[in-house]
Amino acid sequence: MHGDETRRGIYSPLRYLCYTYAIELSVKMLVFEAKLVGTKKQYGKLDEAIRTARFVRNSCLRYWMDNKDINKYDLSAYCAVLAKEFEFASKLNSMARQASAERAWAAISRFYDNCKKKIPGKKGYPRFKKEQTHSSVEYKTSGWKLSNDRRYITFSDGFEAGTFKMWGTRDLHFYQLKQIKRVRVVRRADGYYCQFCIDQERLEKREPTAHNLGIDVGLNHFYTDSDGNTVANPRHLRKSEKSLKRLSRRMSKTKKGSKNRAKFRNKLARKHLKVSRQRKDFAVKTARCVVQSNDLVAYEDLKVRSMVRNRHLAKSISDAAWTQFRSWVEYFGKVFGVVTVAVPPHYTSQNCSNCGKVVKKSLSVRTHTCLHCGHIQDRDHNAARNILERGLRTVGHTGTLTSVDETDQYLGEETPSSKSTRGNRKPKK
Ligand SMILES: [Zn+2]
Repeated sequence: MHGDETRRGIYSPLRYLCYTYAIELSVKMLVFEAKLVGTKKQYGKLDEAIRTARFVRNSCLRYWMDNKDINKYDLSAYCAVLAKEFEFASKLNSMARQASAERAWAAISRFYDNCKKKIPGKKGYPRFKKEQTHSSVEYKTSGWKLSNDRRYITFSDGFEAGTFKMWGTRDLHFYQLKQIKRVRVVRRADGYYCQFCIDQERLEKREPTAHNLGIDVGLNHFYTDSDGNTVANPRHLRKSEKSLKRLSRRMSKTKKGSKNRAKFRNKLARKHLKVSRQRKDFAVKTARCVVQSNDLVAYEDLKVRSMVRNRHLAKSISDAAWTQFRSWVEYFGKVFGVVTVAVPPHYTSQNCSNCGKVVKKSLSVRTHTCLHCGHIQDRDHNAARNILERGLRTVGHTGTLTSVDETDQYLGEETPSSKSTRGNRKPKK
């Protein structure tokens, strides 16, 4: 193994997952993306803006580390101090500086949240962002201007990046200018992109289907559902796995710091970008389909944390696909009004979905055979049924008016249904 490369995670798919993943999945917000077309000099200016945004974020983090006990507002006040102190920082649009401070705060508050929730293991102590290809700068409602036909965007802050032609802005025409709350310039391995965050709630009507679904993920199939249907792993994952391996092997043979290595690094990053786009496409389509045809979708609450540690490429690629799929299921669940439940993953494959008793089996046993009731079923199908059952139990009931006491009393009067007690039941006092 080329230990150095592995540790730095050069081909860790999860790292590259953020490429298309940084887009928030919120029903309150729509995100459109366009590619920016400009000159090399203009791209250089964007690089400067991106670098400055990173500088502001990291400086805010430093400020927090040196003076704990500070809040969001202190950080945003600190932006003005930075602008006064550093000339290049003052070039960045003031609202973009604020947005960078907000990013630092987001990292800090996530860390505080994890500590509060007492999550076992690492709490995600905020880290400084390093210089890397994938990076971005976020503007809010100033510092940029769209042309009347919305095909061009001009950045007007101190970096004077100027006017860019945009590719793929068709969707932008359907919304009003004031709905654009944020404009983000994102640098990727294959160029510069502009993301528009539009304030628009997305809720869609759907007829109930009276069908619930449990989903079990695995390496053999992308998932198996509680009806016994399977969705195959997308072929491109296998294919790209091979070429990613080959590329990173070739890169590790090049000399560190050489031009050749830089070339390979870019090639590898582009490949990852392509894979992440394919993965997103697959995730969106599959998730939409699952959500639209069910009233409730249950799946296992797998911990991403433990996935990141995984060193097997095949496994981590499918994990990344799964994580993204799950986010889209939850997103579409909100859009279409479908219940989505993440259930604790313990014993879902060990229990019998027919009688509920535990039937121990190793991972290599592909068929569930119950010693207690004789139930025989494909292992994943059995697990999916358990997941669905657990999901239905978790959802429970909301909106009941009766107090706890009343409920207890009511339950006490339930009529026994077995035959032996039917004739000689005594009336209750
Ligand atoms: Zn059984």
